[in-house]
This record gives sequence, structure tokens and C-alpha cells, in this order.
Amino acid sequence: MADHCAVTIPLEDIDRIRIYINAARKSLSAIRAETGADYLLNGTLFNMSTFEPNCHLKAEGEVLCRPPYAVAGYAWQTGPDISMDTLPDDGQRNYIACTPLIVSGAPLNPLTYDVGQGGKRGRSAIGIKDGRLALYCTRDGGSMARTPEQLRDDLAAAGWDSAVMLDGGGSSQCDFAGQMVSSSRAVHDLILVYLKDKKEEDPVSGKKTVCLDAGHDAGNLANRSPDGTYYEHEFALDMAKRIRSHLERCSVAVTETRPDGQAVSLQERCKIANAIQDLDLFVSLHSNAAGDSGWSSARGWSCYLYGAGGEREKAAQSILEQVKAAGVTVRTTALVYDSALYVLKHTVAPAVLIEHAFHTNREDTENLKSEAWRAKVAQAEAKGIAEYLGVPWVAEEPQAPQEGEDPELSAAVAKLAAAGIIDSPEYWAAGKYSAATVRLLLIKMAAAI
Ligand SMILES: [Zn+2]
Repeated sequence: MADHCAVTIPLEDIDRIRIYINAARKSLSAIRAETGADYLLNGTLFNMSTFEPNCHLKAEGEVLCRPPYAVAGYAWQTGPDISMDTLPDDGQRNYIACTPLIVSGAPLNPLTYDVGQGGKRGRSAIGIKDGRLALYCTRDGGSMARTPEQLRDDLAAAGWDSAVMLDGGGSSQCDFAGQMVSSSRAVHDLILVYLKDKKEEDPVSGKKTVCLDAGHDAGNLANRSPDGTYYEHEFALDMAKRIRSHLERCSVAVTETRPDGQAVSLQERCKIANAIQDLDLFVSLHSNAAGDSGWSSARGWSCYLYGAGGEREKAAQSILEQVKAAGVTVRTTALVYDSALYVLKHTVAPAVLIEHAFHTNREDTENLKSEAWRAKVAQAEAKGIAEYLGVPWVAEEPQAPQEGEDPELSAAVAKLAAAGIIDSPEYWAAGKYSAATVRLLLIKMAAAI
């Protein structure tokens, strides 16, 4: 184990920076094994008895600590965009603060910190140096123990353009791609850095990953069409299966949050998604509703995103294009930004939530129930997802219609049987009849007009 570890990482090499909330009080090595992160460093100051953070902290949209003062810290949406910022900054998805040491190239003097942070201790810091993310850590009790002022001077001498001292002393710990400072203390939060080219280097786990989230569950009888002929939970699950089979054919690894009718909480859905290493996309599947009860006029396909820009918008655009190309009715505002939807807010991967159509609209409901419409939309969405992932589309093997497996014929027979034009729908759906029989049927159909 080293007394001192320092590393700088080009921002363009960074895939993601994540604040890991260590609620389970895991060790650094356990977190590394769990997350596969390339660089790990302890985070901000926390109260060791309540295990609550003491400084500004926001992780993936969730504010974890907001003291009543402003201070310089680091903020970012996904990672490569990290920069020094005055916190709190509500426009940012992630931020962390503790004790600013260097701002805009100028070492601060005097420094502001709690008495308990003083003295010669192990030190951790995050900063920017020459357009690179800089991380620094020294072991408590080791030869590189420093006062906050000495740390500031060391980093200024090393050319850091900006720097924030993180929690130190026994909290100081890091794993910078194998360079380690260990400590027995489980800390409240850590900064995890993931590099971009990680997947290319690992052919075994080189598959793109998608998490499909079928909305609701079989116990949900409220989300349905006013006439009770359609239930959203059934549709969502069926669409997940359809999209899954398309994606798997294209060699995408798919995880479902709700593989059958069971109830799964929103928290659990996010937990399932966030446990998938380097998940590429989270897609939640729903149908929409408007009005208090009864039928309404609103209709069409739309896709919800936590906010504008970034990977999620690229994914949504790609899906939208394919859905439009398939001739699906799309709402005028097809992409909707909504930071309040739980699964969009609490998933780490780029996330989209598709509202396929309105089950409170008569025409949309007919579509939502239709086998052919579901097949068409699932294929379009899977194509859009594959395109976003950069995965080549593998067309479905054309299948010869087999006995009893001709959905077009079955649908036509059902319609004619409902209209009273044919009897014995099983006989007609089987497709085994002579020209003479078809002639008789045509005569009967003409008489029915
Ligand atoms: Zn829903």
C-alpha cells in the first residue's frame, strides 16, 4: 500500500463520474468489485455517528445535503463535463463540495474548514489540472500526511488549476486503477470514475446492455381503458418480451425489471438497473392516460426524459425516428422533459420512458390491443435502440406461415366471425380449403354488404 497516490485523467477519456452512496457501509475493495469503476476516491465530509454528509452533495439528481451557504465545488451531468462551480447548482445532476483550496488558479488564503479537519492528516482532493481530472490521496499517519494549507501548497506547486479538499484523516482512501491507499473506515460516499474504452478491452462483457422496465404489475387494475378491455400492465409486459426478443437477436444483453406479473417497487426497479455494470440504456414501457375518467381525445406516442441533451436524448431521438418511420401516430411534442418521474431520476444509465399511446382514447386503445400494432411498434423501438447502441440490426428470419400461426388470417377470420359472415372460425383460421369453398365464401360476403 502506498502513502500517496495521484493521477490525472483526460476529460475526454471519461465515460462517467458517479457519486457512490455507501449506505451498506462497504469497504473500498468491495465497492470496486461491485461497480467495476476504474478510479475510486473517498468523498465529502460526513458525520460518523449519523452517517450523514455535512457538505453540499447531489448524486444522479438527488440532493443528499444542502447546507445554507454557497461554496465552490465540482459539478457535472455525466462526468466528462465536470467543472468547478458555485454550489448548490440546481441545474447539475451531480455535485460535491468540501473545502475549496484553489479557485481559478489562485490558492485560497485563509482556508475555511472545521477544527476537526485541521492538523497533519491523510488527505484527499479532487481538482482540474491542464484540462484533466486530477485525483489525489495520502494515507493517514503516513509520510505524506499534511495540514490543509500544506495540501493546498502541494497541489498549487503541482500546477492544479482548481482543487477541493475532500474528507481526510481516517477517511482518506483510494484505488486509482490499482494504486491504493487503504483505510478500515467505511465512508459515506465515494467518487467513482469510469473510463470510456473499458468495454472494448473486455471482449467477454463486450455486449451492449439494455434494461427493459415493464410498467406496473398484474395487481394494477386502475390503469386500463374505460371499457375495461385493455390493461396497461399486460401491454407493458408483452412489449418488453417483444422488444427483448428483437434485441437479443441483435446480440444485446437484456435484463427485465419485471419479467412476469409480480409487483416490483419503483425503488427496486432502479436498484435492478443500477446493479447492471455499465448499463447502456434503461427503457420503461407504458401507455398514457388523459382526463379523470371515460374516453378522451388526446392520443399518440411520446417519450419522456429526465431533461434535455446527453445520451438519453440521443437514444430517444433514435427511437422516435424509427417509430415515425413505422407510421405510428406520434404526439406533436413527442419528447417530453420531466425530472419528476422516479425511474428517470434514479437510474444511473441513460433512461427513457415510452408512453406508447393513450388507453383513454378509443382509437389508440384499439391499437394498443392489436397484435399487428404491437409487433410493428416493438420492432420499430428495438430498431431505434439498436441504432442508438451502434449495434447492427439483424432482421427476423422470415417464417413460413404454419397451421394456426397466421396472425393476419386469424385476425381477418375473427372479424368476419364477429360480423356473422362466417361460422366455424377454427376451420377458416386453419387455412385448408379448396377454391370452391372460397368461391362460396365470396358469394356469402358479397350478400352481407
Ligand atoms: Zn404507466
